[in-house]
Amino acid sequence: MSITSFNPPVRTLMGPGPSDVHPRITSAMARPTIGHLDPMFVGMMDEVKQMLQYAFKTENKLTIPVSAPGSAGMETCFVNLVEPGDKVIVCQNGVFGGRMKENVERCGGVPVMVEDDWGKPVDPARLEEALKANPDAKVVAFVHAETSTGAQSDAKTLCELAHKHDCLTIVDAVTSLGGSELRVDDWGIDAIYSGTQKCLSCTPGISPVSFNDRAIEVIKNRKTKVQSWFLDTNLVMGYWGPNAKRAYHHTAPVNAMYALHESLVMLQEEGLENSWQRHMDNHMALRAGIEAMGLKFIVDEAHRLPQLNSVTIPDGVDEAAVRSRLLNEFNLEIGAGLGALAGKVWRIGLMGHSSRAENILLCLSTLEAVLSEMGADINKGVALAAAQSALK
Ligand SMILES: *Cc1c(COP(=O)(O)O)cnc(C)c1O
Repeated sequence: MSITSFNPPVRTLMGPGPSDVHPRITSAMARPTIGHLDPMFVGMMDEVKQMLQYAFKTENKLTIPVSAPGSAGMETCFVNLVEPGDKVIVCQNGVFGGRMKENVERCGGVPVMVEDDWGKPVDPARLEEALKANPDAKVVAFVHAETSTGAQSDAKTLCELAHKHDCLTIVDAVTSLGGSELRVDDWGIDAIYSGTQKCLSCTPGISPVSFNDRAIEVIKNRKTKVQSWFLDTNLVMGYWGPNAKRAYHHTAPVNAMYALHESLVMLQEEGLENSWQRHMDNHMALRAGIEAMGLKFIVDEAHRLPQLNSVTIPDGVDEAAVRSRLLNEFNLEIGAGLGALAGKVWRIGLMGHSSRAENILLCLSTLEAVLSEMGADINKGVALAAAQSALK
């Protein structure tokens, strides 16, 4: 055996996540590992919960980090709220709504799909039709920020409609948390989940979730046991819960929690609203450069996510070859299209610590260099100036 230490290159991460991790966060991870029941660790857990309430804009006591990636946060919401036979209206406008449907089915629930075109937001009128046609529905689920397309849906309006028809709401905020306006309490979101590696710019592997009292009441009155032992909030709360005895449930990923703690401290230092604004300002600068080059956005301006930019590929260009040259020659990662958009768009992420002026200029200049060399039909020599004037 001649395997030695793994030393990854330093990349600039401008795909759909993970995003660039600030050195403060990676160095927090390197601090000494202590026991997950150590009083010092327990004190830090309380701070993490408080800061997550700040990030979600909620007073929900059941606001905790699940020890697994965003997909486990999704599963936590579904397995706790959906029982066999329950009808769940799932709004799908991209990849992640499809995963919600899978979750409903695996809980023994009955999904009712409300489909919108990829790249469009969820249409409230279609949701309302589905609610009227299914008065026995228990839950409405949708993705706030569809990372597969770059479209943002109107979470406030969708939640209002759901409540008017006595449904609970499950909202995917994996890509929105920290990057665009999100107000759990004001918008009446009942259950929500996110991830650490997108706009929080933390290392991957933890999923913040939050449940309000209405959702907790439903969980308490379940007729059946939650099918997942690990994700059953009744059991998890023995460890994370308010006034919990901090009983052993599982070994928390101790050092990953240090990282999350540090990323939330940084979010507080910046200010949540300032972070939303930074994501928007940097999006406008990238957009100025991309459009000057002659590429287009596939999502209408009104519903465009600042942190995930889906842009068209010039005719005749091998999009995978471009991505691989950016990665190999410039250590720059951008994302490919997914599902219905595979081969049709690039997804350029400006999430968290990746949302910075230098990344925008790097991305525009290297993309232009590679596309020019490939003979693509783009406007040359104008993108950087356009972005720079937008940055001022
Ligand atoms: C990334 C993402 C997920 C999944 O998160 P993982 O941490 O990869 O499991 C779920 N929903 C959306 C909208 C995402 O962008």
